[in-house]
Amino acid sequence: MYQRRQSSETRVGQIGIGGSNPIRIQSMGTVDTNNTEGCVAQAKRIIDAGGELVRFTTQGIREAENMKNISAQLKADGYPTPLVADVHFTAHTADVAALYCEKVRINPGNYVDPGRTFKHLEYTDEEYAEELKKIEKKLVPFLNICKEHHTAVRIGVNHGSLSDRIMSRYGDTPEGIVESCMEFLRIFKREQFNDVVISIKASNTVVMVTTVRLLVQTMDKEGMHYPLHLGVTEAGEGEDGRIKSAVGIGALLTEGIGDTVRVSLSEEPEYEIPVARKLVDSIAECAALREQAEAGIKDDTITLEMHETDWESLQLKAAMAVGALLIDKKAHQLVIRNEGFSTEKLVELADGILQAARIKFTKTEYISCPGCGRTLYNLQETIARIKAATKDMVGLKIGIMGCIVNGPGEMADADYGYVGAGRGKISLYKAKECIEKNIPEEEAVDRLIDFIRKDRGL
Ligand code: SF4
Repeated sequence: MYQRRQSSETRVGQIGIGGSNPIRIQSMGTVDTNNTEGCVAQAKRIIDAGGELVRFTTQGIREAENMKNISAQLKADGYPTPLVADVHFTAHTADVAALYCEKVRINPGNYVDPGRTFKHLEYTDEEYAEELKKIEKKLVPFLNICKEHHTAVRIGVNHGSLSDRIMSRYGDTPEGIVESCMEFLRIFKREQFNDVVISIKASNTVVMVTTVRLLVQTMDKEGMHYPLHLGVTEAGEGEDGRIKSAVGIGALLTEGIGDTVRVSLSEEPEYEIPVARKLVDSIAECAALREQAEAGIKDDTITLEMHETDWESLQLKAAMAVGALLIDKKAHQLVIRNEGFSTEKLVELADGILQAARIKFTKTEYISCPGCGRTLYNLQETIARIKAATKDMVGLKIGIMGCIVNGPGEMADADYGYVGAGRGKISLYKAKECIEKNIPEEEAVDRLIDFIRKDRGL
């Protein structure tokens, strides 16, 4: 029986997240944050589609300062929707963003610690404690600014951007991801700062679901009940991106976990909103479907009886209903029945869901970011070209990431990567190793395909 987890309420401008508030839906802009007019127009499209919070990347002080203009213009135009600044690597930027935005997202993996270098560093207990003190030294003044300006904070951990410090002690494990968050949360609690929302995201749905569940248990043990923001990062686009998001986010929502949702698609941000809406509106129905499906598991097979008339609803609801069962390996096969759709299409959908839950791989997997103000090339067009050239490379994981700052870390376990390195420049990766740096954008897709073919002897 579906029951939503009881969380505390966090105030974010005019709305509340968690507590008895409805599950909030949000998205993130892709326009350069210095482009006030472009950001305002994009935010309006997101809000008009049903978005209740809009986030923009603030890579530096200049962008953080411009949030003031974006916010003023939106409010003047009758859009009081809370704005969120996304901060990585420069803690001081968060201090500035907190003056102008209703919420600031910080990433524990790079708030004080330098970006992940993938080096295995050894920390003594004293050195480790020293690092925590450094975090506290930056975090406390930031929280004081937030208190003064009634700004909420999201602690947004990404599986792909854990610090070397965390990696050295915990490795790439759910425990490490959760600890990365808890270290910050304990400081928040000590400082009696309660307007906080937590997210732990990963591109791998199994990692994402397992880790968020562990976070909830860990918070409960420490008497913390903060609201949770859910998302699958780098889910890609089109049907695959929707199915992957529905498997990961849906698995948790049907368990009652989640107070705000962002579906990350490599598409226009307003297209994310109806997908998130559908997931949120289908929770009780999919939780009931899941119970039925679990009771009917036979011969390692889940049989899902659906009655949808619309293909996208069928995709999202089916993925959401069986997401947790597959992630928990309750069965390894899936049969979907729904009148009005061909067996071939239903098998294809079942295969897509099995792949999203990492049970069976029948096609190439694309780990592509949704893009943001840091993206300096045409992400959507590039994804389409790479997909067209690699769609038969079954089982291969290809990362297509907008920027060098977060891209290499966040495409985590991709076999090959295409990463924006600067305006018109691309770097290519084999796993975590950069194999070509700063090549012109016009040549980059062909060079990536050539490299993959040669490397795999195709
Ligand atoms: S990886 Fe993509 S979404 Fe993430 S910061 Fe870079 S451009 Fe933005």
